Amino acid sequence: MSTRVDIPKGKKLNKYGDLENLELTAEDWITRWEKKHIGFHKDEIHRLLQKYLPNILNGRKQISIFLPLCGKSLDIKWLHDQGHNVVGVEISKTAIEEFFTEQNVSYTQDLVPEIPGAEVFKSSDHRISLYNCNIFNFSSLIAGKFDGIWDSKSLVAINPPDRQRYVKHMTTLMAEGCCYLLDSCTFNQDQIVGPSCNIRLMESLDALTQQQISWGLDSFIEEIYLIK
Ligand code: SAH
Repeated sequence: MSTRVDIPKGKKLNKYGDLENLELTAEDWITRWEKKHIGFHKDEIHRLLQKYLPNILNGRKQISIFLPLCGKSLDIKWLHDQGHNVVGVEISKTAIEEFFTEQNVSYTQDLVPEIPGAEVFKSSDHRISLYNCNIFNFSSLIAGKFDGIWDSKSLVAINPPDRQRYVKHMTTLMAEGCCYLLDSCTFNQDQIVGPSCNIRLMESLDALTQQQISWGLDSFIEEIYLIK
């Protein structure tokens, strides 16, 4: 006798066999981290960040770089080690704690008075600050505007109905001369064309691996954009 699982509309079975919403809420992301369902995390520094960092820097040294939806990316520590000030925002406290523990960076933890319920985790040299809050509650009043932005799988992690709002929100965090490096996959370009930004596709590559094949995809194109 075979058993059939009815999958409700708007949900899918993830690779762990759990029913998951197609559009992830903040709570869903927090649960994913708690259950260690973090297939998106890579234990390596992003190759394309290393390649295109000079485009973010544009000749500048020791700049402030923002990583929206940063997870526990190794890129945070790498950018810090290059001499930059790094600010990240991440909804999962587990992710932030794991970052500091796994990277062996000592830190302090404080409340952020401007954002109810938010906390900031700072490295002891104060050059890494990771804010545990929703990106939409984070503003330039908290940590100023940034000289550079590294967006790795962040725009794509935002639910499609919120992407336009996310793009507008990110432009409010860009200082004069800010360079925004975006790692994404093919999506509707209309959603990233901002009135004040110049967008250049730097590289487009076939990034199909077993991971995407297991999601049922037969093509997966990674794209790197530089936005000024
Ligand atoms: N940039 C990281 C993680 C990408 S996955 C990397 O390249 O590894 C997206 C991350 O965004 C997850 O860690 C998730 O917990 C976080 N996230 C999702 N929605 C968020 C929101 N609204 N505000 C802040 N963080 C969010």
